[in-house]
Amino acid sequence: MNVYDSDKIAQGLDPLGYRLTDSPDKADMIIVNTCAIREKAVQKVFSYLGRVAGLKQARPNLIIGVGGCVAQQEGERVLKRAPYVDLVFGTHAIGRLPSLVDRIEKKRQRVVDVEMGTRIEESDGAVVPRGETEVSRFLTIMHGCDNYCTYCVVPYVRGRESSRWPDHILAEIQDLVDNGVREVTLLGQNVNSYGQKEGLPDFTALLEKINDIDGLKRIRFTTSHPKDLSANLIAAFGRLDKLCQHIHLPVQSGADTILKRMNRNYTSAQYLDKINQLRTICPDIAITSDIIVGFPGETEQDFAATLDLIETVGYDGLFAFKYSDRPNAPATQFSEKVAERDMDERLQKVLELQETITLAKNRSLVGQTQEVLVESYRLKPAGGNGGTGSGQWTGRTSTNKIVHMPADEAPQGQAGNIGPGSLIPVLIKKAFAHSLWGLPDGSGARTAIGPKGESSHAA
Ligand code: SF4
Repeated sequence: MNVYDSDKIAQGLDPLGYRLTDSPDKADMIIVNTCAIREKAVQKVFSYLGRVAGLKQARPNLIIGVGGCVAQQEGERVLKRAPYVDLVFGTHAIGRLPSLVDRIEKKRQRVVDVEMGTRIEESDGAVVPRGETEVSRFLTIMHGCDNYCTYCVVPYVRGRESSRWPDHILAEIQDLVDNGVREVTLLGQNVNSYGQKEGLPDFTALLEKINDIDGLKRIRFTTSHPKDLSANLIAAFGRLDKLCQHIHLPVQSGADTILKRMNRNYTSAQYLDKINQLRTICPDIAITSDIIVGFPGETEQDFAATLDLIETVGYDGLFAFKYSDRPNAPATQFSEKVAERDMDERLQKVLELQETITLAKNRSLVGQTQEVLVESYRLKPAGGNGGTGSGQWTGRTSTNKIVHMPADEAPQGQAGNIGPGSLIPVLIKKAFAHSLWGLPDGSGARTAIGPKGESSHAA
């Protein structure tokens, strides 16, 4: 979501004459778009601000802004803690950014805007791709969250749930497709409740409309709350041809007592039932999840239930985190905090277990042909680290697994086109924990992978 917001920020500043640069040393303005989901992320913000403070000393006209969830959470306190910051703008203030910057430029005032409304107003037009080879883009379809999980800061820093109008979403996707995008990932804290508050067509109906957009090849979404994952949405995996075979379904814990304290509103049995329904409709669907270890009161037995659930589901991948107290989140007040050392050990166990499962799942794909959407081409440096001076294409399977295709080992004698945006069959030859390695399938491929880079290949 912050990637999408950053694009919106850049788009909003464009009419004021600001263009993206690749180095803070060249910048007239530095915007730090922040995340408050864990304490460590907040610490990183202030440590980064400390590093850019020297630039402000050297160039007093440099504008330093802080946006996103830390800005929303800390407000004026950011100015006190980092006196060289000119601008603090919250999650609902992105649309107001041009006028805030205008005030700073004209009056050299320090500005704080962390006002939150019930809706985030739409800004005009799509955020168009930054480069001609950008194939896949994020797109926010709803803001905020009403679920109030007890560990989570999102409802306090992103506000109450609100959905964007479908015609704005569809127009934005059409714009992206017209600019070469072939895959969109629809973003919301709980996409399954899309449109309910506003009385709009539901999320599955939105997916159906997006599926009809010519030129778009793939649709992904994240995140779906398990309690709200509807039979209708599960069925969509069986019938919408552009909907990728992957769902991110955060479980957080395998212990029902912990799920209750987290206010997640499902049991592990109900969660597993949804997994079964998904696999009945779409046997090859990849399932990923989030796990929090060391939630207050989590016993060894609770943690063992989480490990059991991970094995039972057999996830394709996991994002696992140690519990972290967050301002305003009710769990901050919970007693029975788990010791840091125990959290470290539990996290390690989860990561090791998942790595074994992921590797086994990836290895099971060796010898299979997977459809891959090609995203990029990278020239490997010659010499050292096994580099050959040739390049490799990289893309993803429908199940969201990264596939590398080394150019110098492509089959001889094939001709045709490959490039960012190509959807090609790839024979998987090797599997690693975090990626696959394959070659365009000779039987179906019309193309050789050339060594010259994307500019010499048509998409
Ligand atoms: S559903 Fe997700 S975003 Fe909403 S409160 Fe729970 S964890 Fe936070």
